[in-house]
Amino acid sequence: MLNCREDIYFLTNQLANIESIVNTEGEKEISQAIHTLISAYPYFRANPDYCIKQQTLHDERERYNVVAFVKGTKKPSNKTVILMGHLDTVGIDDFNHLKDKACFPEELFEALKEEQLPSLVDQHLKSDQYMFGRGVLDMKSGVASNLYLLKYYSEHPEELEGNLLVVVECDEEDSSHGILSSLPLLKQLKTDHLFEYVGAINADFVSPRYEGDPNRYIYKGTVGKLLPSFYITGAETHVGSCFEGLDPNFIAAELTKQINYNPDLCNEAFGETTVPPVSLKQMDLKPSYTVQTALSAYVYFNFFIHSWSPKEVLEKLKEQAKIAFSNALNTFKERYQRFSKLSNQPFIDVPWQPRVMTYEEMDQLLMSKHGDAYAAHMAKFKQELLLDTSLDTRMFSAKVVEEAWKWMSDKSPAIIVFYSSLYSPRIEVTGKDELEKKLIESLDMAVSTIQPTYEHPIVTRNFFPYISDMSFVALSDDEEGINAVSSNTPCWGSKLFVNYQDIRDINVPVINIGPYGFDAHKQYERVEISYSFEVVPNLTNEVIKNLLTT
Ligand SMILES: [Zn+2]
Repeated sequence: MLNCREDIYFLTNQLANIESIVNTEGEKEISQAIHTLISAYPYFRANPDYCIKQQTLHDERERYNVVAFVKGTKKPSNKTVILMGHLDTVGIDDFNHLKDKACFPEELFEALKEEQLPSLVDQHLKSDQYMFGRGVLDMKSGVASNLYLLKYYSEHPEELEGNLLVVVECDEEDSSHGILSSLPLLKQLKTDHLFEYVGAINADFVSPRYEGDPNRYIYKGTVGKLLPSFYITGAETHVGSCFEGLDPNFIAAELTKQINYNPDLCNEAFGETTVPPVSLKQMDLKPSYTVQTALSAYVYFNFFIHSWSPKEVLEKLKEQAKIAFSNALNTFKERYQRFSKLSNQPFIDVPWQPRVMTYEEMDQLLMSKHGDAYAAHMAKFKQELLLDTSLDTRMFSAKVVEEAWKWMSDKSPAIIVFYSSLYSPRIEVTGKDELEKKLIESLDMAVSTIQPTYEHPIVTRNFFPYISDMSFVALSDDEEGINAVSSNTPCWGSKLFVNYQDIRDINVPVINIGPYGFDAHKQYERVEISYSFEVVPNLTNEVIKNLLTT
């Protein structure tokens, strides 16, 4: 067993002290600090090329990953294990008056003693078994564990049969520029050093799955995430003659009611179920107050997947949108009829039908009708829209759809379904090929070696339940599934682009062995010391050894 508790405690504290909130200068600072730290180890002084500070690609910000590796000398082997972890954190505003201590675990600990705390937090504080602070759980302790192992093998390459490569990436909490940029570098290293990637271990945090849950979880593979988005057009009318038009907000409300919390949209695989979609935005696109109803509305949802492809999700949501649309029309008709009676006015039959199409379907329709004129116009429009840096991928996409809609000859009310954000692919590690089999075996062996030394159950599950950079090192989707993303993401190729081929080229099975704690992304973020600083590095080390030796 590695006697690593003190070292990892110290390193976690040191990393936490460097505020590194995503999309701030702090990301740059911490990557520099990590690069300096690693470069000072004797092994890397002797092999300076083995520690690389890599600037991200196609990124609006200047920021860096750190990639470093040790070549083992125990026996000649090209097998290489990747350890990964992110250096950025979420913001610290939620710390309120303790904001200036958020990145200083020891000072924060003292300050928290003076606070009125929720009972579990108080219990943990008094137990002395937790470290508090921004990033200590998510995931500087995980990075510290990886750096500890890197340093250990840099001092003992004769114990390593094969190679160990550590990626410390930026921008995990926002757009994953870090991990995506590291892929071409990993490919380059594969060529230059003949690395053969046999498995990747991410060290992002884990938490209890329910109150009182004693388990410490390890995940093989990860949940995927999509952002299905709906552009809804209505028929504009004056509020005084409301039944002459169709309010898109009314359809949007039905749509949210239909999709939000809907268990039909939970994706079960291997006995594990995703949580249902929930809305992250519902708005109309009217720029300012008038007494006309809005022309269009915009809604998007968070959507988790275990086994469905982005194509299947679009099909399911088209169905749901049709149901919502006809529910809206039925209610509309019924209320219109009642109003007609009340007011002694004639009821004129409603001219609209439920009308739902994907962005790809609309785009193809417009291409066949208008051809190059439409294509050229849209290309120019997107180019100009890029200049407006206040737009995120979500709003950028909505504007593209709105512009394309102007070219439609039939402007009767419709719902256009598309994706407006980065797709984080799901990953299944099931043992379907040799590498996966080997990784699962190595993990199972590691757990049975370590479990007897640790009091709480270490439990393996299939899908890491939070979004992480694990999504970008392997791909379980086929070509068709991925094409559904690019052809249905209006900002694809302008505001957003992912080279999924890079992911296919690396395609290494990935598991997550990470620190344990509570309240990541929240004020009382805390990491449990003994599991995170002792068990995690030892488990990871066992997996590394198992993967490289057999
Ligand atoms: Zn994280």
